Amino acid sequence: MFISWGHENVVKNFFKPHHKGHCAKCEAEREFYPILRYTVHNILFFIRWVSGKSYYAICDICRRGDRLNTKEFEQTLGKSPIPAVDRLSGGIVLVLFAALIGAAFVFDGIHNVQEEVWLAQPQAGDIYEINLAKFLDKPETSSMYALMRVSAVENGEVVVQTPLTYSNKMGFTPSQIERAKTRPDTYFRNEGLRIPVVELKKLRRESAILNVER
Ligand SMILES: [Zn+2]
Repeated sequence: MFISWGHENVVKNFFKPHHKGHCAKCEAEREFYPILRYTVHNILFFIRWVSGKSYYAICDICRRGDRLNTKEFEQTLGKSPIPAVDRLSGGIVLVLFAALIGAAFVFDGIHNVQEEVWLAQPQAGDIYEINLAKFLDKPETSSMYALMRVSAVENGEVVVQTPLTYSNKMGFTPSQIERAKTRPDTYFRNEGLRIPVVELKKLRRESAILNVER
């Protein structure tokens, strides 16, 4: 993905004089006007936040002057002179991002509880994402990702069909899993391997079984 970022220095003028006083540069009495300087940073343009906010009162003619106390000056303003989109969108994105991560944890938790139940009470047709290497005495490699299918549950054991192929990459797409469910003959061997139901949880803990799909 292409990610763009950047920043922009902003100077904002206020049109009500702040005070009258002597300007050392002009060597004359001048009116001093407030200005605001800040930098808007953005990522992908819409994630925006502000830094380096400072107010000055500057001479109307030579534009030199002193920095103002931010807190005191802002109290004289009705609302923030910085557009809300610049001030808030970064924060909003952070909050949304945090909410998304939170939701992902909750869904993951629910899914894990669901998987525990499915492992404790297996049914014919359940699909296990496995690391085949952990089922073999002498695996060709340590990463052999594949699917296994429960063809029957009997006498406290699951009868599972083993896969015809495996991949070195972890993770299956929903369509691959769907095909394994609906056309098991294209994906699995017919002979069955027997695993006691009580062993399934241990296999899950050891990451031999990675996911359960029903
Ligand atoms: Zn001046």
